[in-house]
Amino acid sequence: MTVHFPFQNSYAALPDNFFARVAPTPVAAPRLIKLNRPLAVELGLDPDQLETPEGAEILAGKTVPAGADPIAMAYAGHQFGQFVPQLGDGRAILLGEVVDINGVRRDIQLKGSGPTPFSRRGDGRAALGPVLREYIVSEAMHALGIPTTRSLAAVVTGEQVFRETALPGAVLTRIATSHIRVGTFQYFAARRDIEAIRRLADHVIARHYPELTGRERPYHALLEAVIARQAALVARWLDIGFIHGVMNTDNTSVSGETIDYGPCAFMDAYNPATVFSSIDEMGRYAFANQPRIALWNLTRFAECLLPLFSDDQAQAIKDAEGALDSFAEAFSNAYQAGLRRKLGLFTAGEDDPALAQALLEAMTSGQADFTLTFRRLGEAAGDGNDAPVRTLFQDPAGFDEWVPRWRQRLALEPQTPDQRRSAMHATNPAYIPRNHRIEAVISAAIQNDDFAPFEELITVLAHPYRDQPVYAAYAEPPQPEERVLQTFCGT
Ligand code: AMP
Ligand code: MG
Repeated sequence: MTVHFPFQNSYAALPDNFFARVAPTPVAAPRLIKLNRPLAVELGLDPDQLETPEGAEILAGKTVPAGADPIAMAYAGHQFGQFVPQLGDGRAILLGEVVDINGVRRDIQLKGSGPTPFSRRGDGRAALGPVLREYIVSEAMHALGIPTTRSLAAVVTGEQVFRETALPGAVLTRIATSHIRVGTFQYFAARRDIEAIRRLADHVIARHYPELTGRERPYHALLEAVIARQAALVARWLDIGFIHGVMNTDNTSVSGETIDYGPCAFMDAYNPATVFSSIDEMGRYAFANQPRIALWNLTRFAECLLPLFSDDQAQAIKDAEGALDSFAEAFSNAYQAGLRRKLGLFTAGEDDPALAQALLEAMTSGQADFTLTFRRLGEAAGDGNDAPVRTLFQDPAGFDEWVPRWRQRLALEPQTPDQRRSAMHATNPAYIPRNHRIEAVISAAIQNDDFAPFEELITVLAHPYRDQPVYAAYAEPPQPEERVLQTFCGT
């Protein structure tokens, strides 16, 4: 049986300087750990074929399937504010694109599949831990309803990779509507290759923003559209307690999907200053900084587009600034709407932002668990009992002061307690990929070759908004000794 991929590649048809043609490096003994069967079906692939030994070889990069045109994409990027003119796919290879059953073009990329001309001093490989982390978190984000790249498969390679210690090697098959980043534009801008920027912008419009084709000022419209999607995306992250951890411009997708899960993490106790990444010493990518950083990254994107705007540079800059000014309002509207939904409000009131902020402040001083506070508030809206929420606050003074204000505000709306509870439960998850759970999954896999905890965690996280009494323990925050304070890139 041959494994069939209905490839329709478009990026590989762009000019040669957009990528390097390179095949994955074969690995010793590929073993499929996980296939995302529903996603395979969505992509028009046969999950049974992918689960054969030949399928595992393809997903490990040992065999290149017919119709693939493997490339490593070129990109640049600002990493922690420092511009690096050449990054590129150093350990990822785009096999090709398929048009899925909904008519959406999707990239099929192997991550950890061997060196490329962009590897610099890296080995082109990925360790099992980060592969499992990305699988878990990206699929959880999808189930939470947040735009994200997806994970089609994880395989172990049968080879070791060397980080601080020897670790099992693995390959993740990542699916994205594209892997085009702000850094992809920066790559050409740094080389003053205006024709390439135009080619890339046209490709992005056709692929991600087809409604803009034929506009009078398509590149201005592209900037506005990318700004709108990033603003909406980061508002969703804040809604859900997600910290990306490495919001470099090379990790910012122009499609508006969350991409590149490295040292990312969800907050347990609410604190806007939370940082997890071991390499983020200055807190640049702290939880509450994310909107500001998104705007900074979008400003870098706008700079790349300036030559397409006008020959009059002053005018081009003025246009870009006008577009960038729209970010603050777009973000704030999305964020405040998210907070209203989290509080169970059906209408918008003038004092709602202050009401939400007062709760967040009470949570910070009370060290209350972010996810559980909102989930239990939904219960409290239903049954009128505030006690289960209150116990989440180490110091409940702020909560005690806040709760009557919330009750008064709810009373202004006609919804029944049941309606309110259902609406809140549809927006406030019971289950998030908590760090201590991810760490436990990774150590079982690495130390005992035991993937049962991984399977169970992804099963729970597939339905984050549903109460799952058998898995109630997964909703719990870590015990003090289980707390994970730092996450690592694992590169
Ligand atoms: P990341 O931190 O995963 O966003 O990667 C930043 C840059 O480093 C990208 O250009 C990656 O391709 C490259 N990179 C990360 N890890 C490796 C590795 N093990 N081998 C080669 N390149 C890598
Ligand atoms: Mg990256």
